[in-house]
Amino acid sequence: TGPIHARIEGAVVMIGFGSIGRGTLPLLERHFDYDRDKFLVIEPAEKGCEELQARGIAHRQVALTPDNYREVLGEVLTPGAGFCVNLSVDTSSLDLMRYCREIGVPYIDTVVEPWAGFYFDTEDNAARTNYALRQAVRDEKAANPGGTTAVSCCGANPGMVSWFVKAALLRLAEDVGADTSTPTSREGWAKLMQSLGVKGVHIAERDTQARAAPRPRDVFVNTWSVEGFIAEGFQPAELGWGTHETWFPENGRRHGSGCQSAIWLNRPGAITRVHTWCPTPGPQFGFLVTHNEAISISDYYTVGTGSWPEYRPTCHYAYHPCDDAVLSLHEMFGSGRVQDTHHILSEDEIVTGIDELGVLLFGHEKNALWYGSRLSNEETKRLAPDQNATGLQVTSAVLAGMVWALENPNAGIVETDEMDHARCLEIQTPYLGPVEAHYTDWTPLQDRWQHFPEDIDERDPWLFRNVLAS
Ligand code: NAD
Repeated sequence: TGPIHARIEGAVVMIGFGSIGRGTLPLLERHFDYDRDKFLVIEPAEKGCEELQARGIAHRQVALTPDNYREVLGEVLTPGAGFCVNLSVDTSSLDLMRYCREIGVPYIDTVVEPWAGFYFDTEDNAARTNYALRQAVRDEKAANPGGTTAVSCCGANPGMVSWFVKAALLRLAEDVGADTSTPTSREGWAKLMQSLGVKGVHIAERDTQARAAPRPRDVFVNTWSVEGFIAEGFQPAELGWGTHETWFPENGRRHGSGCQSAIWLNRPGAITRVHTWCPTPGPQFGFLVTHNEAISISDYYTVGTGSWPEYRPTCHYAYHPCDDAVLSLHEMFGSGRVQDTHHILSEDEIVTGIDELGVLLFGHEKNALWYGSRLSNEETKRLAPDQNATGLQVTSAVLAGMVWALENPNAGIVETDEMDHARCLEIQTPYLGPVEAHYTDWTPLQDRWQHFPEDIDERDPWLFRNVLAS
């Protein structure tokens, strides 16, 4: 059930059948008209292939590599038609999107992923940043503008949260009595954010999903890819660096080339804590895990250019993963060893909880506005099969991004900031549970412990210096 959004001619190829691939499949089946006998999954792992086999879905059990991807994809894609849906780890998003555009096949992914080995074998921390990965995609866009649409980073975050930023800006404009007409250009959106006095954005998430049994020792438990989370957690912390910042972190580093919207800290993101706020817990610690959207949002909303523009918001992830994942991180970093056993909590074993994922726009006349999805696992099970709440926020964004790509087939390489947020949210929102706006008078200077001195600056509560937990 559910509306058919588009017809797809030719082969629909999905790369990766992990938690996100599994959850995306039922949404494709529900909302697209395509030839089922031209659908194929590329998946190297035994487990995924057994399931595909049992369900009678065509697949190739092979891992894409720099040496084989052109040949493998060349055999299964339909030039000038179809769709390539990349939901894998350890494959280069840049190489795959470049090839798909070469042969005129629309493409989508949920992260700028590199080939296997990049995250841990690269010595230079600056080269291991998402800034570097994203900049390579932006450079490709600049060198080859237009052409077949390839949507970069269209999951929940990166992805949906960029649409939430726009929805939240229009909501804020309305609530403060400012002009609420929808901007029609990037510059227009950036000026709107600037004129509303927004100093920055946290991608503020609290995942309270839990199962009944306590986490066993030596098992990394998460609500989505464990490999994906460990990889990004070990990258340096990164954030879009706003023009209101008056202090620079001692371990902070700027980049020598590219858009200059972000900085990185010489420290892993998953042990870098920040003060943030979500509706359910109120004030909480989040981890400053690097994410593409921190860099893209700061870039998109820049007025002016370079390292010292007229206006730019600070932007970063502030992630409180599910409690079992917090314990898993604690164990992993404490022991200096990655657990051998990995487990993704399934919709059936989760007994309680929601994934509360939104954007916290702060520093403006109404202090701070959280805007986001508060989707429970319970509701997820009623909405779509084969995924928990975290998964559905991602897969429904993939659905929306695919519809937008089919409606805009020659948009070239795009990030979600550059897409029509209203159209995308129209498609996605039925899968997001309650989507709500919450104002709060909380600031990072509140709810702290008074007994020890801290490195804070009370002149502006929203400085990153105050957000960063010492
Ligand atoms: P997962 O670990 O459950 O699944 C990844 C799949 O990729 C696995 O089945 C694995 O066998 C397959 N794979 C590994 N190497 C491959 C190769 N060389 N070629 C083809 N397939 C290969 O991960 P997941 O939770 O399904 O996440 C998938 C991707 O989506 C990850 O890159 C993750 O970072 C991303 N993601 C993005 C968001 C977002 O909101 N933007 C959220 C969750 C996940």
